[in-house]
Amino acid sequence: MATGKINVSVENIFPLIKKFLYSDHEIFLRELISNATDATLKLKHLTSIGEAKVDYGQPMIEVKVDKEAKKIHLIDQGIGMSEEEVKKYINEVAFSGAEEFIDKYKDADKDTGIIGHFGLGFYSAFMVAEKVEIISKSYTDAPAIHWSCDGSPKFTIKKSDKTDRGTEIILSIADDSTEFLEDNRISELLLKYNKFMPIPIKFGTKTETLPKPDGAKEEDPAPTKEVDNIINNPNPAWTKKPADLKDEDYKNFYRELYPMQFEEPLFHIHLNVDYPFNLTGILYFPKLTNDLSIQKDKIQLYQNQVFVTDNVEGIVPEFLTMLRGVIDSPDIPLNVSRSYLQADGAVKKISSYITRKVGDKLSSLFKNNREEFEAKWNDIKIVIEYGMLSEDKFFEKANQFALYPTVDGNYYTFEELEEKVKDLQTDKDDKLVLLYASNKEQQHSYIEAAKAKGFEVLLLDSPIVSHLMQKLETSKEKVSFARVDADHLDNLIKKEETQISKLSDEEKEKLKSNIEEVLADKGYTIQMEAMDSSSSPFIITEPEFMRRMKEMQQSGGGGMFGMGSMPEMYNLIVNTNHALVGEILGTKTAKKRERLINQSLDLARLSKGLLKGEELTNFINRSYEMIK
Ligand code: ADP
Ligand code: MG
Repeated sequence: MATGKINVSVENIFPLIKKFLYSDHEIFLRELISNATDATLKLKHLTSIGEAKVDYGQPMIEVKVDKEAKKIHLIDQGIGMSEEEVKKYINEVAFSGAEEFIDKYKDADKDTGIIGHFGLGFYSAFMVAEKVEIISKSYTDAPAIHWSCDGSPKFTIKKSDKTDRGTEIILSIADDSTEFLEDNRISELLLKYNKFMPIPIKFGTKTETLPKPDGAKEEDPAPTKEVDNIINNPNPAWTKKPADLKDEDYKNFYRELYPMQFEEPLFHIHLNVDYPFNLTGILYFPKLTNDLSIQKDKIQLYQNQVFVTDNVEGIVPEFLTMLRGVIDSPDIPLNVSRSYLQADGAVKKISSYITRKVGDKLSSLFKNNREEFEAKWNDIKIVIEYGMLSEDKFFEKANQFALYPTVDGNYYTFEELEEKVKDLQTDKDDKLVLLYASNKEQQHSYIEAAKAKGFEVLLLDSPIVSHLMQKLETSKEKVSFARVDADHLDNLIKKEETQISKLSDEEKEKLKSNIEEVLADKGYTIQMEAMDSSSSPFIITEPEFMRRMKEMQQSGGGGMFGMGSMPEMYNLIVNTNHALVGEILGTKTAKKRERLINQSLDLARLSKGLLKGEELTNFINRSYEMIK
């Protein structure tokens, strides 16, 4: 037996390793399994080029937990290590790597970074073990060795009688880490980090039910067999060629990724690039609801099939974090903070590549099967609208496929919409006015009024659409959006010719003061307008600008400061050309006039959904009185 002292500048870095990344102790398992995988893949390579004259066979990696002895064993059938190699790779390389790592990152802000996801390697074993042993037999003729280290820089190395090729790592679990002696905890970690690693990983056995033999009786139990419990799928879909996968394969892989997700994805995008960076993956568009906050953190980031994180912030553009799926790239630097990550050139390229692929996919779906695209629009619009708002390149591209649905269920691209409405909805200043509703039921009477004039009414109801309208208004020339209840239609789309007023200016003044008297305390701004005699006598409107600013602020940013808490503002439009309004003016008794005004106002509020509570009850009672 030989003993030695690992040559390090710090007397004892093990306490440091232990303290470091306190919450991330669990990564030791991923690191050790990664090493076992690397060792196996190296052997595969050496046998394939004829360098190693051994039988590669069908190697697997085995994880064993011995709760009683407080040990975890990790056994691989890879290249193994000779004594020299252990001294070199473990005592020197791995150790100095760990030392350098700690040195570099011990002061880093752990909360904001991906730091700690990778880099510590073999020595992360000391985060959970008080003693680590390596028993290894190289694929060469070198004798098997047994290395042991108890967490101080001292180690021992002796001969071992191991006869089969590969490495066994034995961890004697420390008293503060006994959670890792629980089968459930290990299973959980294997599934989290190693679910798609390329070499089969065995953890215990499981009972498999076999088919009943011929002639078995109904009541005979089916025969069973103990088989290896392989926890991973070594060939996940994203590592295959798109040409070798059918739609069903993509759907199956989605279920594999999200076993608790019962809804099918709407479509997928297979990512595959090897220059100027390496990246593979599959992204899925799930059915999204309007609640933006709950759907993030579903994309999983891998490095060579090893799970790294499900927080891809900074790697994938913000608007695509609502998607699901997998990204696998060895080119994403992981030992750095998020802010550094976002400034990294390769990461920037990756982010814009992903954005471009998503744009291409959407545009080909739109071109190849517009009907299906329209049917899916409601479920995907939030991502697209969000992307249009946040990424200018995507905004430009989305012009081809972003849809503007109408209340009647037609879907137009912006250009089609322009073409469709330009004759009727261009105002006297040559501005195109696009009318929209946010709720078909609530704004029904306003929608009907607009349709009666031949206008198209869009149905724009996603939570961020007010921001998008703002952006469209500033980036397109002479376009404005107005909700159907923002004002009366002749004001929303002003034409040269105006309606002739049936009332004189004095009459209008008199009428206005009559109405103001009755509505004194109700807070409406009264607007006298000469409109079609067939338009409603009283209409309540909500000016576009104020309402939209409020909405923008409620959905985050963009709006004017403090708008969100402002009260709603309503105008009362009085159609001076309507017969009923003429009657109000002609009524001699104040009492009757007051009744007519109140009843008309209530009807206008009713159609805007503003009549509620006691006022609604009074209105109903009053109406019954009137029809008696
Ligand atoms: P890295 O994996 O980044 O090289 P590690 O600290 O994880 O760093 O491992 C250090 C080295 O130890 C590896 O590069 C490898 O040469 C050797 N090694 C670790 N585990 C094994 C193993 N199971 N089989 C063979 N060699 C191993
Ligand atoms: Mg490693």
